[in-house]
Amino acid sequence: MPPKSPSKYKTAIQEALKQPRRKLQINMVPGPLFRQNLRTMLGKHHWRGLRGALIEDVELVCGSCGNEVEDTSKLHAHEVWSYKMFPRKNHEATLERIDFICPLCHHAEHFGLTEKLYNSGQITKKFYDAVIRHYCKINNVTKPQFKADLIRAYERHKFMSSRAWNVSYGAFSELASLVGRLRVLRGPENSKARKMLFPHLYTKKELKRL
Ligand SMILES: [Zn+2]
Ligand SMILES: [Zn+2]
Repeated sequence: MPPKSPSKYKTAIQEALKQPRRKLQINMVPGPLFRQNLRTMLGKHHWRGLRGALIEDVELVCGSCGNEVEDTSKLHAHEVWSYKMFPRKNHEATLERIDFICPLCHHAEHFGLTEKLYNSGQITKKFYDAVIRHYCKINNVTKPQFKADLIRAYERHKFMSSRAWNVSYGAFSELASLVGRLRVLRGPENSKARKMLFPHLYTKKELKRL
């Protein structure tokens, strides 16, 4: 449990948010924010559209470690979030940008999830070990240092999961709210309202039938 007095809580926040200086970081998503991300918010169809639009300008290298990839299908779209914590009010999570990174970097970034996938047999031991090796190589650290970083990341995650968060999709807010409204307006009874609100999604012929 976080300390009750605001000043003590502030110090605890500063301590908890400290991260070792690494090129590749382990960033676990706070528990209350699980599934509160742009990918889930947009759903498969719109996420794929956004990914396709963003990836057009991307070079064939990992945005994190700089390793080359054969083609864009090998790059994962990774949401980069910033976290602000306050002693007296809800914490704030903001989507800063979407990076395109290689699968090894992505699984290192979300190592908490990687461990779950490994424990449930969804990724192989070979891949799991490769992620750890990649982390050590990119950061020039030993395996015991990786383990210490991981313990630190779990402590940080536990602290960050202890209170409620407000979520902002940053530059993607408009897109998120547009898709949210589209979803509310599903169903044939809303077809007229849909066409009036989102005319750009329809052909002239369809709009004539309003
Ligand atoms: Zn990488
Ligand atoms: Zn990610």
